[in-house]
Amino acid sequence: TKLSDTQIEELAWEKQNGLIPAIVQHYHTGQVLMLGYMNKTAIHRSQINSKVTFYSRSKQRLWTKGESSNNWLSLISISADCDSDTLLVQAIPQGPTCHKGTTSCWNEIGTDHFLQNLIHLIAQRKQEPESSSYTQSLFKAGTKRIAQKVGEEGVETALAAAVNDNDELTNESADLLFHLLVLLENQNVSYEKIIACLSERHIKK
Ligand code: AMP
Ligand code: ZN
Ligand code: ZN
Ligand code: ZN
Repeated sequence: TKLSDTQIEELAWEKQNGLIPAIVQHYHTGQVLMLGYMNKTAIHRSQINSKVTFYSRSKQRLWTKGESSNNWLSLISISADCDSDTLLVQAIPQGPTCHKGTTSCWNEIGTDHFLQNLIHLIAQRKQEPESSSYTQSLFKAGTKRIAQKVGEEGVETALAAAVNDNDELTNESADLLFHLLVLLENQNVSYEKIIACLSERHIKK
């Protein structure tokens, strides 16, 4: 969805001295990525080039996010809030959005922060030198062992459901999810790729 010229004109420009705050949200995960400011030209540019462009108050010029880092934000939609003084920008980030190298400027805090943090921890365990961590022992045991664990936990999850044991189902689902995340990390398939895949199917319907 794009803002029409009329919708752009009707934003609360006077109230905001010509700059409207724009919250950027990850289109697939809902995670809040960053905050920037947009003037009319920044909105037009973003919509024409499909790359999120702000007005940088420090640079005092239009700033296309990623112009030097190539970490663009591919634009999906821009919409105004209830009283037209704040924008929500939905985008698909190409690389980390924060210049400090993280997905979000709020240190991985977002709707999905628990899973994001767990994924981050699992990735760390893979890199770490010798430790007594169970996660690390899985990486050391290798692909076959991790894949086998996912199979086992999948069967245990299904069995718990079959006997209507919801406490067991909760436990086994947690085991399954954890081992699946380890397997994905081991195979270098990102969680975001899985979400993108699910999301694409959703759009097609
Ligand atoms: P980029 O637009 O990614 O090429 O980054 C260019 C410069 O913009 C960086 O060196 C930072 O000074 C600034 N910058 C980039 N990303 C952000 C961000 N998410 N929040 C604030 N400043 C940023
Ligand atoms: Zn408002
Ligand atoms: Zn940042
Ligand atoms: Zn189990």
